[in-house]
Amino acid sequence: MENAAPEWKLPWEGGCRCGKIRLRVTQPPLLTMACHCTGCQRMSSSAFSLSMAVPTPGFEVLSGEPVVGGLHGPTKHMFCGHCMTWMFTRPEGMDFFVNLRPSMLDDWSWFVPFIETYAEVKRPWAATGAVHSYPQFPEMSAYEGLIAEFAAKGVRPK
Ligand SMILES: [Zn+2]
Ligand SMILES: [Zn+2]
Repeated sequence: MENAAPEWKLPWEGGCRCGKIRLRVTQPPLLTMACHCTGCQRMSSSAFSLSMAVPTPGFEVLSGEPVVGGLHGPTKHMFCGHCMTWMFTRPEGMDFFVNLRPSMLDDWSWFVPFIETYAEVKRPWAATGAVHSYPQFPEMSAYEGLIAEFAAKGVRPK
């Protein structure tokens, strides 16, 4: 421990609604997010999606075979092929992290979105508690600072 930040208490395990797919997280998230974009509204069947960017080496599927869903484009939205839960996303051109939906984790009671995106189309009543809010996505150049800020004082499991 090089600083006083609370520990993440890894690893975490989780799975889809039916349990055919199980997964494990062994590295802390880089960022936690809520996205209000209309694509996320549809795919989450809700007002916004929740995600956490997990470094790819710290993410592992333990059982089951996730299938591609959503737009079937260069960004891979991964689902359980049986219960059709939207579990995680492999974003185009950004192999170093996986966007995991935090509600897949067996315990995600600690989760709070650190940034929210596409606030320009958010439902007026949809409050996420995010520290930073962006009309669309932040500039790419902003991520390094956001990741550093999240690492320093991001939320942690209690
Ligand atoms: Zn399933
Ligand atoms: Zn979105």
